[in-house]
Amino acid sequence: MGKTPSMTAPGFLWTEEGEPRKGMVAEVAPCIPTHRTYSYAVPDTMASSLAPGQRVRVCLGKRRRSVAGFVVSLDHKEWDSTLRPIEELMDRESYLPADLIELGRRMALHYGCPLGQTLKSMTPEAVRLGRGLKTVRYLRLAKPLEEIRAAGARLSAKRTSLLEALSQTRDAVAADEILAQADVSMAVLRGVIAAGWVQVTEKEEMTQDVSFDAPREEPTFELTEEQRRALDHINGKIDEAAFSVTMLFGVSGSGKTEVYVRAMRRVLETGRQVILLVPEIVLTTQLVKRLAARFDDVAVHHSGLTEVQRSILWRQIASGKKRVIIGTRSAVFAPCEKLGLICVDEEQETSYKNLQAPRFHVRDVAIMRAQQWKISIVLGSATPSLETWYNCEHRSHYHRVIIRRRVKSLPMPKVHVVDMEDERAEQKRAVVFSRMLATFLGETLERGEQALLLINRRGFAHALYCPSCKTRLSCPRCNVGLVVHTVTGQVACHYCHTKAPIPESCPSAGCGEKLIHTGIGTQRVEEVLAALFPRARVIRADSDTMTHRRHYQALIEDFEARRVDILVGTQMIAKGLDFPQVSLVGVIDADPATLGSDFRAHERLFQLVTQVAGRAGRAEVPGRVVVQTSMPELPALRHALRHDYEAFAVEELAARQKANLPPFRRLARVVLAHPREATVRQEADTLAETVRATIESLGLESSDVLGPNPCALARLRSRYRYELLLRTRTAGDMHKLTDCLNQKNALRAKVDSVMLDVDPVAMM
Ligand code: ADP
Ligand code: ZN
Repeated sequence: MGKTPSMTAPGFLWTEEGEPRKGMVAEVAPCIPTHRTYSYAVPDTMASSLAPGQRVRVCLGKRRRSVAGFVVSLDHKEWDSTLRPIEELMDRESYLPADLIELGRRMALHYGCPLGQTLKSMTPEAVRLGRGLKTVRYLRLAKPLEEIRAAGARLSAKRTSLLEALSQTRDAVAADEILAQADVSMAVLRGVIAAGWVQVTEKEEMTQDVSFDAPREEPTFELTEEQRRALDHINGKIDEAAFSVTMLFGVSGSGKTEVYVRAMRRVLETGRQVILLVPEIVLTTQLVKRLAARFDDVAVHHSGLTEVQRSILWRQIASGKKRVIIGTRSAVFAPCEKLGLICVDEEQETSYKNLQAPRFHVRDVAIMRAQQWKISIVLGSATPSLETWYNCEHRSHYHRVIIRRRVKSLPMPKVHVVDMEDERAEQKRAVVFSRMLATFLGETLERGEQALLLINRRGFAHALYCPSCKTRLSCPRCNVGLVVHTVTGQVACHYCHTKAPIPESCPSAGCGEKLIHTGIGTQRVEEVLAALFPRARVIRADSDTMTHRRHYQALIEDFEARRVDILVGTQMIAKGLDFPQVSLVGVIDADPATLGSDFRAHERLFQLVTQVAGRAGRAEVPGRVVVQTSMPELPALRHALRHDYEAFAVEELAARQKANLPPFRRLARVVLAHPREATVRQEADTLAETVRATIESLGLESSDVLGPNPCALARLRSRYRYELLLRTRTAGDMHKLTDCLNQKNALRAKVDSVMLDVDPVAMM
């Protein structure tokens, strides 16, 4: 039998059919929806430059489709010619250190997301494209100048000048620099390189430095007794150099940030890097500014960065130049060489959940990373997620430290709950402001203090309603209420962004009744305020007005400089802001229905009221809070009223346990979407059966499937949506279930899309 070389360009391999050979074999995770990895032979030409984390092009399947993929491991072993070679190297270097590849594996398993896709989401594309880098040529003499002279070389004055300049430097110097110094041209340089007297090395360098220019500022206060105890505990954990989770539970204004700062500094002293994760940075500019002022070498990741800046920051972190990383989601993947501590501020924040596959939760990924590095992680919150609270009671790695009092012993603000049904009955009409809130607003303005007014979810506010046929004007494609924007004279769907002129009368067939406005929007509040307090300076903050980071920045500055008396906004104003002159906070519509229909609505209501109350009375001005609701007896409100998280947690956890809901069970949500309702319902039924059979075959105890049911958002962009909830007792069981389904490719259906969301947060 003759030789049959398989000449697959460019890295062809001379092997005989079936001939065993020893060599490098790469495990590749393709960037396509597949849940397994594939082996490829590494051509000799690539062997020296290939590293795990690099992207390569490989040929996949019978149809020999060429796809990109990540090398996730390299091994020297025996293989035969049936193994296909890697076709092409795509990245010049690896952008994923070994620990991030391992993290990617854990995430892929936990979130049931293909490994290739998961790894892709971990490094900014700009980094792979080498944005923000320029090639700098470095020069050094190839041999001592005397040797060159001794060899009888004829040296012109210009060449001499260049070589002498080079002979005076010990390290290689940048070409531009030395040419300027010796005052000679490129041509001279080319000549001495050609003669073999000068060695050139090329280096990629950053085109700019990305600094967060906050002036250094140190507070002068001493830690309170409680802060000190919390810090001592965390420091003790840091010194143990083992994996541990500390939940730092402290009311807002209890000085948790100061505890993170000091713990982070302790770790920095040991030469390691630290990551501080903060929710949605556009909401936390103040916090970030204050934090950045406390450290050198801070890398701040935020949505305002350009691609080039992102890429540069990444390199500065990878090289160890930046040692403090502050940021939102992507900062959890900072390519730290020596990670020593992770802090997660406001760990309960829903914005930590990634809304695209891989649908990871930043806090949970941070915990995985801490576990991998065997380091401490601190989760801070005034209203911890019930998952974290539960873990503190049931898992040995979790510890809880509590700060009960606000710094400077500021009292907690007084919270008043107003029953809006009573208010309606007494004022004989639907109202925006209760009499109490209106009175307090007047007093606040009179005293020259500031107020915050909060309205819940924008989408449910300010809708049009037909009093005759009792229907709400809704989006024909999404089945959600259309929202009225009086300024533009339009109604809009906040999901598919369809817009139409405000109709005069009910569009239902044969009705034609005049439509009335229901719900309350930020605009409506603004209008009512203008009528009640014509001289008050009011500003509105919602996603219509705050379309850019800049707007938000300006708003904060205006409010801080007290050019504004009343700030009206959606949830975005509930969090993180610290304005000492705010003495009144009003929640216009504190009803769980405005916070979603899923099992976490009460938890979110409690968090919202507590957070917003924390905005009042942050300094010398005592705070008051008015919460308007149609359900004043709700436990979430009763406990929020007394700032009693622990009582709320006990009551809510008992309810969750009874209903077999998280944190007592793990959930994964599967959403199917399709233009034909009958199709999607039928496919969802079939899928539910498959999952049930899989649960049975795996012998998973206390696991089941809920549904299929139409989603809360039953129709979106002209597609009907159905959901299944997969429920297991433990995360391990969920891994088994989703992995088994994925390996069988069972999470498929003949519909437009199937989405898997493990540990879902928003159940829309
Ligand atoms: P939290 O994050 O718990 O809501 P912060 O860390 O924002 O609280 O602290 C609230 C305010 O108290 C900040 O302005 C902070 O500078 C200040 N502060 C923190 N610790 C102390 C302390 N020990 N003494 C005085 N002021 C403090
Ligand atoms: Zn729509």
